[in-house]
Amino acid sequence: MARPLLKDHSIESLRERFAHDGLPAYRAEQVAGWLYGRGVDDLDAMTNLSLDLRQHLAAGWDTRALEIETVQRSVDGTVKAALCTRDGARIESVMIPEEERSTLCVSSQVGCPLECSFCATGALGFTRNLTAGEIVDQLCRMNEILDGERTITNVVFMGMGEPLLNLPAVLEAIRLLIHPKAFGMAPRRVTVSTVGVLPQLEPLLAVAPINLAVSLHATTDAVRDELVPLNRRFKLVELLDTLRSLESVNPRRPVFFEYTLIEGVNDSIEDARRLAPLLRGIPSKLNLIPMNPHPDAPYRAPPEPVIDRFLREVAGSGLRVTLRRSRGPDIQAACGQLALRPGREAAV
Ligand code: SAH
Repeated sequence: MARPLLKDHSIESLRERFAHDGLPAYRAEQVAGWLYGRGVDDLDAMTNLSLDLRQHLAAGWDTRALEIETVQRSVDGTVKAALCTRDGARIESVMIPEEERSTLCVSSQVGCPLECSFCATGALGFTRNLTAGEIVDQLCRMNEILDGERTITNVVFMGMGEPLLNLPAVLEAIRLLIHPKAFGMAPRRVTVSTVGVLPQLEPLLAVAPINLAVSLHATTDAVRDELVPLNRRFKLVELLDTLRSLESVNPRRPVFFEYTLIEGVNDSIEDARRLAPLLRGIPSKLNLIPMNPHPDAPYRAPPEPVIDRFLREVAGSGLRVTLRRSRGPDIQAACGQLALRPGREAAV
């Protein structure tokens, strides 16, 4: 059995564990300062802790959840890291540099159980949930890779996995991301993307004023059933009604809808025209993402003129809409391309 991981605990939870073990609770903040503030994993280097305490922690706890396996850099500056958990599972994280910010796209599960037909991660199948420590250690490892070259300013849960099927760990990870003594990020700099596991939306948004992204991808149940099989359980109307009813969704905190444009599947003018009425009453921003092709799905992006026409139609209907150009396609780092598996890397 692996030893418990310090990073699996929010500071509140670590304080309780420390108190339970007869240690002063404030030591939890000091440990967090080293682990997250300074990115130090070596307990011996935590010089403001007594030797006794360092030895006590070293005997019972682990500090590193992940090791770096490979790093790939795109010509556009995007960095993709393949990371390995203590039990040998492999996940991927992607750092996307922009002028004003550097966003880390983190994974929340090893593989994914949802089997969305256009997503490479879905084709991998599901292995297990990540723990909170394995989620936040993705930041620590990326910081190690970047080595001061850039500072991560934003985190998006848009890597492998469905965050709302792993809610307890995702919430604990968010608490660490936003705690001033841990990563100290403003909640607005954290975005969780989900296909819409309806009962989990409210508990997610109750943790802090983070951003919510919802993978929409279709304007009819028939098409969404095919692309996002979970739609067979939670229909479009239910999803959108639930979003309408959430108090934490408001014009200052709109929903970011993602819509992957797939040729001949969801790219018609009728689809474009249906979007505004469908989303009426939900403060929203729509992100169009041309399908990133990969060998596990028979889909491709529409031709440029079709994308343009779709974009213009939606914009004309009054929705706030943007077209997201993929980053890092040369290293298979774009949305829906995260699918490390044995034998794959050689081909990348
Ligand atoms: N499971 C969550 C988190 C993953 S976010 C969710 O689905 O929201 C990753 C985003 O990329 C999702 O919107 C997903 O639908 C989208 N995506 C998946 N495969 C894609 C592909 N091949 N091309 C473009 N976008 C894709």
